[in-house]
Amino acid sequence: MAIKSLVVQVRVDVAGKAHNCQANSKHRIKKGDTRLKVRNSRGWNHYCCACAETIISKDILKLTELKKLEVSQTSTL
Ligand SMILES: [Zn+2]
Repeated sequence: MAIKSLVVQVRVDVAGKAHNCQANSKHRIKKGDTRLKVRNSRGWNHYCCACAETIISKDILKLTELKKLEVSQTSTL
């Protein structure tokens, strides 16, 4: 199957039960909260809305850079 998206392994859903954010264990996701779901090799990682915004903002920057189709000079992204 042809790859048509770089972000297929991400979803937004609603927590079925309370648990900690997987980016920061001090962040609590309550039952019914919206959360970001990101596929990993074994299952899914779940992040709270604050971390989701950070992750998505970083990826938007990364995608904006990639869109220029310039050969990568560093691995900092
Ligand atoms: Zn978080």
